[in-house]
Amino acid sequence: MINEKLQEECGVLGIWNVGDFDTAETFYLGMYGIQHRGQQSAGIAVVNGKKMFYRKELGLITEVFSESEINNLKGCKAGLGHVGYNIESDNIRENAQPFIFKYYKSYAAISYNGCITNANRLRSEYLENAYMFQTTSDAEIIATMLTKEVAKGSSLEKALDRVIKRITGSYSFLVMTPEKMIAVRDPYGMKPLCLGILGASYVVSTESSGLDTIGAKFIRDVKPGEIITIDDNGLKSHLCDSYEKTAMCIFEFVYLARSDSIIDGAGVYKARFESGKILAREYPVDADLVMGVPDSGLPAALGYSDESGIRYAEGLIKNRYIGRTFIQPSQSLRELSVGLKLNPIRDQIEGKRIILVDDSIVRGTTSKKIVQMMKEIGGAKEVHMRISSPPVKFSCYYGIDTPDKAMLMANRMTRDEMCDSLGADTLAFISLDGLLKTPVGAKCSFCSACFDGCYPIKTEEDE
Ligand code: SF4
Repeated sequence: MINEKLQEECGVLGIWNVGDFDTAETFYLGMYGIQHRGQQSAGIAVVNGKKMFYRKELGLITEVFSESEINNLKGCKAGLGHVGYNIESDNIRENAQPFIFKYYKSYAAISYNGCITNANRLRSEYLENAYMFQTTSDAEIIATMLTKEVAKGSSLEKALDRVIKRITGSYSFLVMTPEKMIAVRDPYGMKPLCLGILGASYVVSTESSGLDTIGAKFIRDVKPGEIITIDDNGLKSHLCDSYEKTAMCIFEFVYLARSDSIIDGAGVYKARFESGKILAREYPVDADLVMGVPDSGLPAALGYSDESGIRYAEGLIKNRYIGRTFIQPSQSLRELSVGLKLNPIRDQIEGKRIILVDDSIVRGTTSKKIVQMMKEIGGAKEVHMRISSPPVKFSCYYGIDTPDKAMLMANRMTRDEMCDSLGADTLAFISLDGLLKTPVGAKCSFCSACFDGCYPIKTEEDE
């Protein structure tokens, strides 16, 4: 799937350096390992002694930070970073993270990924008590709650314990002060977060790709409901009381995470490859070639080819030089942008019966355009769409900005109607049972609410 906007994720990265390397340079490189999780804004905060510096802006990491700015941060102790896609399009700039806030007699920074489902209620409560908010970001709600708890005399860790008991939803976040860094993962483990080590220094990243990029060794995933404190004396951890059954977002394996990441014990690439194999067993079709929609559809296409014995070939070229996501999510621009991002290879496609594997269909706009390009530009004789996730019929309330339920193609149409509307010759989706088997070796259970409507966490509307 490309540009269909089921991608409002964020990525966080934190490094607490005990003297092993240059923090700013290493940190900057590490940010590339999470860039895929958000291309609208990027920011870092660093501590140097008791001081904290930060910079955040709209754009990709390369657009936000110049080499000289990174050089100016030499000698910093620790860093916290964020890449994001901000759902609240009116407040994109204000909502860029890390969010910096006054904490005790110093400053703290928070980098946050997720969605607090009782955010409106908490925000109203604070507004009624004369607190002010500068942004619409959940990170500021957490910062406000923390500041209030610390003002009552709690340590930062105790304050976090209390805050976590009051917030519900999916999240992972990092808090940094000049003295320490704290990593938190929600009690359901919906959002990924992992811990690594570089020399003797700890690194925390949304995905293991953030560790690999800087050569940090993966230690383990942060446990659901765990609070990890890192300072110059090492690492301490405790589970907060509200630890519950896990519900990792299965969409991380379908589309969101980078294929080389390992989440909760399961490899993302392997899961995607496996989904293609299962899809080939569940929905075989006679054809000449298997092709995938770049990037996240490619491993599933290879899996489909492997299982079916039908040759795999590249059929769509992705333009990798489209930088900042200047294209706003309007319907017409979304359609136009597909041609900007993907182009079919006519030599490969012309006159062939193609099995085209993609990871998901949300609105259907993109898939329709791709089928049309395969036929009209590529000259395909037949296009058989195979989707490595079940039909997306329900909205996500946990931080992935699916459109209104009524906008979801699978919510409005039967499979045959979808197939007709896309202009494909056949259309089939992997079963939910099949998909849930794909994260081989996973040490967690999954949320699959956008496919089956079984929401693991209540929203404010439910209450
Ligand atoms: S509803 Fe879907 S996208 Fe949202 S957390 Fe659950 S599985 Fe992930």
